[in-house]
Amino acid sequence: MNTQTPSLSEAAAPLPRIAVLATGGTIAGAAADATNTAGYQAGVVSVEQLLSVVPALSTVARIAPEQVASIDSKDMSTALWTTLAQRINTLLAADDIDGVVITHGTDTLEETAYLLHLTVKSDKPVVLTAAMRPASALSADGPLNLLNAVTVAAHAAARGQGVLVAFNNKIHSARDVVKTSTYAVDAFHSPEIGALGWVQDGRVDFQRSVVRPHTRATEFVIGANWPHVEIVSSYAGVSRIAVDALVTAGVRGLVVAGTGNGSIHASLAHALADAASQGVAVVRASRVGSGHVMRNGAAADDALGFVSAGSLNPYKARVLLMLALAAGGAGPVALQKAFDTY
Ligand code: ASP
Repeated sequence: MNTQTPSLSEAAAPLPRIAVLATGGTIAGAAADATNTAGYQAGVVSVEQLLSVVPALSTVARIAPEQVASIDSKDMSTALWTTLAQRINTLLAADDIDGVVITHGTDTLEETAYLLHLTVKSDKPVVLTAAMRPASALSADGPLNLLNAVTVAAHAAARGQGVLVAFNNKIHSARDVVKTSTYAVDAFHSPEIGALGWVQDGRVDFQRSVVRPHTRATEFVIGANWPHVEIVSSYAGVSRIAVDALVTAGVRGLVVAGTGNGSIHASLAHALADAASQGVAVVRASRVGSGHVMRNGAAADDALGFVSAGSLNPYKARVLLMLALAAGGAGPVALQKAFDTY
């Protein structure tokens, strides 16, 4: 047996140290029996239990687990967003943390991911993952998604790519990814744009990189000030009642999930134009699910004081609008610049 201590040059570099922050979700869900994938309770399995069923993690990284929350992500709040983003920024500022993985519910994952993409102040990898089947299920998808997320976070190529989502072997940019299925294991896609790359059997392969500014290159700083922004939708027979009530409630911004290219029913358009004339920020997105909304395409944005969301869906447009308003952005010109930039 060779008992010699290796020389410095032969000693293997220590594995990257990755913080795994658990927030709940189906990945931490449990049902009464293993065949139940719909009637379960989300967010009841601890981060230690999640890690314990994936022994291969120890070959990829040194894990620093933290239980930040235990919620069903349908109940995500702006207060928890503040806590999570601040914790990530604190961890990444430390020399002994090389990256962060966040386990999250799938329902609002795309919103949290985009929020972090705009407010994390580090080049170190930040990767979200989740699961469509609870931890108790036959063929649970969480363990492999977790291993893949840590594998991506531990990989040098993930540095500087902004916040990433590792799900079902694909690596997506937080800006582009959306949930596209209520039940399928392949539940996340980046419509039209496609994934950034893939992760499989320990291999990480990026095929393209993120062009729009993110993380350290944004003016957004996470705080506890969340301007009140709501989402309304355009559909056959829609009235102006909801918009008028929200304006009366003091909303600072409204995102409209319009039809097609962000077109808006005349009743709703009149109400939104009135809102804009009172200083409420109005952003036109689309309910379609892919494509983009052209400025001055389906509405006279210049004349009405509206902003176009480009390729952000209504939920991500709301995240950007809140951050832009919190950063002091005011008026359609400044807000349009934010949407054209991020
Ligand atoms: N309702 C769950 C959540 O978002 C769904 C999931 O995680 O798949 O927390």
